[in-house]
Amino acid sequence: MSTTSNIDIPPVVERFLRYVRIDTQSDASSDAVPSTEKQKNLSRILVDELQGMGYPDAFMDQYGYVFCTIRRIRVHNSEENQTVLGLLAHVDTAPDESGENVNPIVHGPYEGGVIPLPGDPSVTLDPERSPGLLDHIGERIISSDGTTLLGSDDKAGVAILMQLAEDFLSDDNVRAEIRLCFTIDEEIGRGVDYMDLDAFGADVAYTIDGSSINTISFETFNAAVAMIDVKGRSVHPGYARGVLVNAARIAAEIVSAMPADEAPETTELREGYLHPYKITESDVTRSGIQIMLRDFSDKGMEKKKKLILEIIEKARTRYPDALIEVDISEQYKNMRSYIEEIDFRSVTFAQKAAEIMGFTLEEELIRGGTDGARLSERGLPTPNIFNGGYDYHSRFEWNTVENLEHSLAYCKALVQYWGENG
Ligand SMILES: [Zn+2]
Repeated sequence: MSTTSNIDIPPVVERFLRYVRIDTQSDASSDAVPSTEKQKNLSRILVDELQGMGYPDAFMDQYGYVFCTIRRIRVHNSEENQTVLGLLAHVDTAPDESGENVNPIVHGPYEGGVIPLPGDPSVTLDPERSPGLLDHIGERIISSDGTTLLGSDDKAGVAILMQLAEDFLSDDNVRAEIRLCFTIDEEIGRGVDYMDLDAFGADVAYTIDGSSINTISFETFNAAVAMIDVKGRSVHPGYARGVLVNAARIAAEIVSAMPADEAPETTELREGYLHPYKITESDVTRSGIQIMLRDFSDKGMEKKKKLILEIIEKARTRYPDALIEVDISEQYKNMRSYIEEIDFRSVTFAQKAAEIMGFTLEEELIRGGTDGARLSERGLPTPNIFNGGYDYHSRFEWNTVENLEHSLAYCKALVQYWGENG
């Protein structure tokens, strides 16, 4: 480990620095489960360490998921407070950047300005592109050497939960029963495909996979996809007048009718979008268009569906000899609707635990998918909690010593709050 300041490395950070060195990159092009065998290398280490600490029931299943139970400590031996908490983090790192030979660096206390990374002069931590850095002046930034990603997504979550398990062996504060789960293949959207929720046995869960410090995420887009199929009529262009119906032209007109200010590249925060992302089989006889619809509200989603149908109707009127079909299907719902329905304490208790620690938990919207969204849909309300990392999936990725310690302290406070009130 090359560090400019390796004194006083707390145990959670020591763990983090060890785990990021293990290559666990997942691979969307593989059909195997897990998508890459090497993810199990970290899973096996986690099981060995948990068993070594004093959790003999810790185990890895055939897919590489690791499970472990941390027993509750009750308020005055009461039989109440039975909520079982699931805590999850994923072992894999993103396919976007290499996770091989990660060489983590703990920098000295941050004084502002640009931090050069020794492995690649073109990669620097620069507050110009990452303004979040300026909120961490005086803290010890952790990054890669610039040649790989860091893997804070989500080895920060893994290290936090492993340290929590170790610390709870000698902690007699009240706490909820905890089921730990380290998952695989989150980065390729298959993180919970093979997870047995009945065996897991949690009532409420959290993924420790969120980014910005002091944030919770419990809202994702509503998502749908529209498949449009245009059939035209092909004849020799020399004799085509009044006969030829050009499916390629019609498809292009439909795509250009999509509002440019409602695209992923022109929207942010709570704004939804229509994203024509693929044109298939485009020629005169036949052309297909695939469009993503994304919106946080049900009403907004309905509006977007209506707009697509109107655009199609206009094209049908303009080209009565073409056959234009459209099929819009739901993909997933904003996870908030499931969380509200099943147990919104998963959000309010998280906010209260933060208040007790003296900070406000801010909501961060997710403009994409998450394992927690899929778990919530399957009946386990699972908001996402910060782990302090920034600039995920890139060689600019960073976290701080202080963020990791704070995230760990928060997870402990959260578990205690559930133990006292859940
Ligand atoms: Zn992640």
